Amino acid sequence: MSCPVCDHPHFSKQLTVKDYTVSGETFDLVDCTACGFRFTQNPPSQEKIGSYYQSESYISHTDSNKGFFNNIYQLIRRQAVQSKRKLIGHFSQRKTGELLDYGCGTGAFLMEMKSAGWLVKGMEPDPGARSRAEALTGSKILEPDMLHALDSESVDVVTMWHVLEHVHELHQTLSQVNRVLKENGLLVVAVPNHLSHDAMHYAEHWAAYDVPRHLYHFSPASIAHLMKMHGFQVSEVLPMWYDAFYVSLLSEKYKTGNMNLFPAILTGLVSNLKAFLNKGVCSSQIYIITK
Ligand SMILES: [Zn+2]
Repeated sequence: MSCPVCDHPHFSKQLTVKDYTVSGETFDLVDCTACGFRFTQNPPSQEKIGSYYQSESYISHTDSNKGFFNNIYQLIRRQAVQSKRKLIGHFSQRKTGELLDYGCGTGAFLMEMKSAGWLVKGMEPDPGARSRAEALTGSKILEPDMLHALDSESVDVVTMWHVLEHVHELHQTLSQVNRVLKENGLLVVAVPNHLSHDAMHYAEHWAAYDVPRHLYHFSPASIAHLMKMHGFQVSEVLPMWYDAFYVSLLSEKYKTGNMNLFPAILTGLVSNLKAFLNKGVCSSQIYIITK
């Protein structure tokens, strides 16, 4: 295999990471020796990766209310969709418009935008999540390959919330996103950041490596590089403060077998303090991107 960003054939091994949620298999993370991009070496193909999402604990695709941890997750998610709506309004300078949520999961964000008057389209590869999103929003949710069928320059805002790290067809997808986005449109991408304090602290136990579902492990520099390749530019980088705590809690579980609340909160706090001083090192970040 070669670098998914620049196609360079050489890379150096950084970490060996276990799939804690589904398979228990291990995967190597490597850095491209040309562009520095970090990626999961030899992940399952697009055809075979579906089974790696089949887990009760893969909660981003369900709306389970079981357990303390899930309750916190659901509460934060409700607040998160509201702040995402405000963020879209602010950076697009629009009250309404046409929005495509690529990788919409169970549709909570789509519903929030639809309720606020936006014309929404959702795309999602997981059939279970797709039907939940359809039930919630009352809109037809499309499979991701339907991106090719959308009209050019027809969408005001494309959002990819923790999605790009899962997309096999990285370059094709971004070039299609550029095609469907209006000239003054907005692309919003949220991804984990392997340069964060929590990533360094937990290393191979860092939950946001999430192999093999996460094919790529981004940093602000690799996002900027990748976007430039597709005619985009990053205009703002914003922190996602909750993610440092959420990811640290999961990482504690992977590292020790227990949800150690105190060390997780401490690591999350240190991570966020560092990100407060340097906006390039938050646990997860939102990139505001224009053509
Ligand atoms: Zn590369």
